[in-house]
Amino acid sequence: MEPKDILTASNLKQTKPRLMVLDQIIGRNSAISQPELEKKLGKEVDRVTLYRTLSTFEEKGILHKIIDNAGTANFAICQSNCSSHHHHDEHLHFNCNQCKKVYCLDIKIPTTTIPANFTMESIQLLAHGICENCNTKA
Ligand SMILES: [Zn+2]
Ligand SMILES: [Zn+2]
Ligand SMILES: [Zn+2]
Repeated sequence: MEPKDILTASNLKQTKPRLMVLDQIIGRNSAISQPELEKKLGKEVDRVTLYRTLSTFEEKGILHKIIDNAGTANFAICQSNCSSHHHHDEHLHFNCNQCKKVYCLDIKIPTTTIPANFTMESIQLLAHGICENCNTKA
């Protein structure tokens, strides 16, 4: 999907920062970290706008956030079945120890039973190791 179609589908106005952020994220094979995104966007999108844009996208079910080993936020495009306030990104995430990239893997993480008085709203599973990119370089 094109950035502008994604915004239209979510009833979001087409603003330059929104289009720029989506442009950076679409078509990547890994998630993008917030610092990397800041660097790529440069001065055109200030920090506050970026922060707001990312949280809007998260709310709308466009992007999901993955916190990596270092505590940094990474963002990746959602699967098509995510919607406003309802994410279905229960797949395995992989954090490469070498290039530090976070990948969404097409592996469903097992659902689990938790004690009766707990309400689970989301579940994350982060694997660590060497990604295919770094493995083929070795
Ligand atoms: Zn999602
Ligand atoms: Zn790697
Ligand atoms: Zn993911």
